[in-house]
Amino acid sequence: MFVCRKCKKVDNFDLMLSHGYQGEGKVEKIVDANGKMMITVDGYTFVPDLDFMNNYAVCGYCGGIYCWDYSKQVK
Ligand SMILES: [Zn+2]
Repeated sequence: MFVCRKCKKVDNFDLMLSHGYQGEGKVEKIVDANGKMMITVDGYTFVPDLDFMNNYAVCGYCGGIYCWDYSKQVK
């Protein structure tokens, strides 16, 4: 889980896909039974790390970027 350092919202984000990206850009967020989040982009699934988040994720609440931290908080 990731928390926005600015507004403290958890896992509320959208991805910024690069302008050169050729796919459909269909993004899904999946949380497994252990609370581990995975992201699927056009059928390719991966576990995002903090580095990925700070490069590609924009906060869906405050619009912040480069603002993510790991969160231990459980919803
Ligand atoms: Zn935020």
